[in-house]
Amino acid sequence: MRIIIVGSGAGGATVAKELSANATTGNDNGRGIEVLLIEKGPAIDDSKDASRYYANIRSSEVEILRTFCLGGSTTVSAGNGMRALEKELSVLGIDLSEEFKEAERELGVRTLPDSHFGEGTRRIMAAAGDLGFEMKKMPKFIDPIRCVPCGKCSFGCPNNAKWSAIEFIKDAEKNGAKIITGMPVDNIIVKDGEVVGVRSRDKTFRADIVVLSAGALETPRLLKKQGLLSMSSSTRTRTRTRTHTHTPRIFVDTFITIGGILKGVRLNREVTMNALIAFADFTLFPHFSNHLVKRMSVSGIKTSPDDVLGIMVKIKDEEVEVGEMAEADEVKKGITKKDAVLLSEGAAIAGAILKRAGVEPSSFVSTHVRGAHPGGTAMIGEAVDKNLATEVSGLYVADASVLPASPGAPPILTIVALAKYLSRIILADLT
Ligand SMILES: Cc1cc2nc3c(=O)[nH]c(=O)nc-3n(C[C@H](O)[C@H](O)[C@H](O)COP(=O)(O)OP(=O)(O)OC[C@H]3O[C@@H](n4cnc5c(N)ncnc54)[C@H](O)[C@@H]3O)c2cc1C
Repeated sequence: MRIIIVGSGAGGATVAKELSANATTGNDNGRGIEVLLIEKGPAIDDSKDASRYYANIRSSEVEILRTFCLGGSTTVSAGNGMRALEKELSVLGIDLSEEFKEAERELGVRTLPDSHFGEGTRRIMAAAGDLGFEMKKMPKFIDPIRCVPCGKCSFGCPNNAKWSAIEFIKDAEKNGAKIITGMPVDNIIVKDGEVVGVRSRDKTFRADIVVLSAGALETPRLLKKQGLLSMSSSTRTRTRTRTHTHTPRIFVDTFITIGGILKGVRLNREVTMNALIAFADFTLFPHFSNHLVKRMSVSGIKTSPDDVLGIMVKIKDEEVEVGEMAEADEVKKGITKKDAVLLSEGAAIAGAILKRAGVEPSSFVSTHVRGAHPGGTAMIGEAVDKNLATEVSGLYVADASVLPASPGAPPILTIVALAKYLSRIILADLT
């Protein structure tokens, strides 16, 4: 029995670890599960060079951030670990309470001690409190003993203090899983309604089960090639395998960072996004971005990164139709009127907090609009069922594509929990 997992990020690495652990403990009833993880990007040392593997989509109105490498986008995460979409999934009949607990334990989710809060975050927390907003510490999958605050979380942690999916991949390898890197899967092979393998360039890999975990922009492309996703009505084509159609949509948790000058504050050298205020449809986090410095320079304000204090405004954005997706630059994510209203509400509060924290308002600038949590392109109830199964027998999805709504919050824990849930379903089916 060979199981192929396509993609090694939050979803794929978890499935590889879970299935391979089971194969070596003998719980597979002697079936001999062979786990093969196929990753498009290279194997990397995420403590050194994760930021080299950003594969952002800049042509979209909202720039979409992601990476292509072993460990996927988890290698550049800010280490934020929150349960997201628990209620929405429960309404769909998916109870992840056990999986969340396990994920929190394995990733080491906790808030960091006061020693890991610098001047910038403290000032923002205090200013928010003065204005009547309670800013809480962010739960992190960062080991406080190894963490030397440096502001480099989203470049790859230089001290290996932050969990990334590479840890799960190492576990999977120890369990006997085989990992192939630098191998983009181009096609899923289906015969008589059953998955039988995948193809990468001129290579064919046979499989009894395939789990797609190539991320919310690549997984739907692979599904689309099988006719398992319909695109816009003008390009819709009928296939043998599809029995219903939908138009794929996307959300990205759209965000901006606004900031201004506060001499010597050095937020850029602190643990990224170490606190939060959650509103109904948006969340604020202390956040430094180099784009703020660049924007100031364009406005004729010369400043150093050490002198900038900023706040990220991240919204639960509306899902919009994703576009053709045949190539990366055909992925379209725009801003709706509701998104614009939420961004401006958040920016108004962020501005008030920054002013109270001591930032000179005449220096305020905003980054362009971005999103780092693409999802929803192969939703539960549309492209996959409650068991994360597609209409092709043996073909499953475990990544951000299946998320049923914009989380407006860090999705890694939820994706890991869903991948654990799927692993259990697959193993139960094998017994
Ligand atoms: C800068 C940044 C900071 C973030 N910070 C946080 C945070 O603090 N907390 C949080 O919860 N979330 C965070 N996120 C979001 C989080 O990283 C993603 O939501 C999550 O990693 C998505 O998991 P996934 O399994 O869907 O995809 P990914 O983790 O992106 O993995 C997809 C994998 O598939 C591979 N792949 C793609 N196509 C193919 C193919 N054809 N064949 C084989 N392999 C393929 C890719 O190379 C990649 O390794 C952040 C994202 C970014 C960009």
